[in-house]
Amino acid sequence: MNTLTIIDKLKTEQNASRDELIFLLRRLGEQERRALREAARETALRQFGNKIYIRGLIEISSVCKNDCYYCGLRRSNPHAVRYRLSEEQILSCCRKGWGLGFRTFVLQGGEDGFFTDARVCGIVGAIKSRFPDCAITLSLGERGEESFRRLFDAGADRYLLRHETADPDHYQKLHPPEMSGSERQKQLFALKRIGFQTGAGFMVGSPYQTAENLADDLLFLKRLAPQMCGIGPFIPHRDTAFHDKPRGSLELTLALLAIIRLMHPRILLPATTALGTIHPQGREQGILHGANVVMPNLSPEEHRRDYAIYDNKLATGVESAEGLDKLKAQMRAIGYEIVTDRGDYRGNETNKIIRE
Ligand code: SAH
Repeated sequence: MNTLTIIDKLKTEQNASRDELIFLLRRLGEQERRALREAARETALRQFGNKIYIRGLIEISSVCKNDCYYCGLRRSNPHAVRYRLSEEQILSCCRKGWGLGFRTFVLQGGEDGFFTDARVCGIVGAIKSRFPDCAITLSLGERGEESFRRLFDAGADRYLLRHETADPDHYQKLHPPEMSGSERQKQLFALKRIGFQTGAGFMVGSPYQTAENLADDLLFLKRLAPQMCGIGPFIPHRDTAFHDKPRGSLELTLALLAIIRLMHPRILLPATTALGTIHPQGREQGILHGANVVMPNLSPEEHRRDYAIYDNKLATGVESAEGLDKLKAQMRAIGYEIVTDRGDYRGNETNKIIRE
């Protein structure tokens, strides 16, 4: 086996075997990283030109019933500051975002029982009636097929639910026994079936992660064929059991972004906040490795610090919606342009957004 041959195969066939992926992931040297970067950048440019889509991220609740070992918002963290946004607050975030040029709003939060189907459907409907030219992405954890269907029928367009890790044993090392990787995967397939533009994803360098795990993550993505994929480095949070685990590396995250771009040429792939948090040029590097989306924070300023899933999470400067001009300048400096666009997935997937 030869790493550059495998990269060629990713480029031409958009595929590689498990053994080849493991082989490549174990031998990511200077040469491999450069070849991946150049191929992924070319692929993204071919699909999207130099256009970058933006999403306004609204963190609607820091309350969560789950106890994921890596997350600062896990229910057993007594130091986490808990808040939830009212419908009025959410709408006012959208109003501000619309003025800034956002045409997608991402409502993200912990698994908070307060946000029942009726409440979320009401909020989705209110956003859609006021901002009919905008897409709504939800990222509210596992709610089950019936709930997903109601949210879709209320007008939500997309759903983000990272699979976190495709390996059941690794999943169990990151989550308490009441959570399961197969349930998570089942819910992802349900989202696709319902018609959501669906996003999966995982943390890079999460505790106990192996090259085999990452290869399986890539193969799972191939099987699910999601329209979006969120990946970013694991970053420890001081109030979790993983507080002393090392964070994921910039280089490995960038290589994985590039591999995902090659395997899924049209996928919507953000340069995440976590990537921007671990390196001052993380976001730009992400774009140069095939990412085509950024998600600045639109949450009300007084709550931003409290959606603390990991330590030192960026929510100001270019990570914030108010810093959009600076973000535009940063993107321009590397030859890219932020556009005012819903930025929907464009492909011939079978689950195109057909409403029943
Ligand atoms: N409750 C929602 C939203 C979770 S936050 C859900 O379960 O989908 C979004 C993502 O942040 C998670 O899916 C996870 O991959 C990531 N995340 C959580 N803790 C993290 C950490 N310590 N470092 C890096 N990413 C983290």
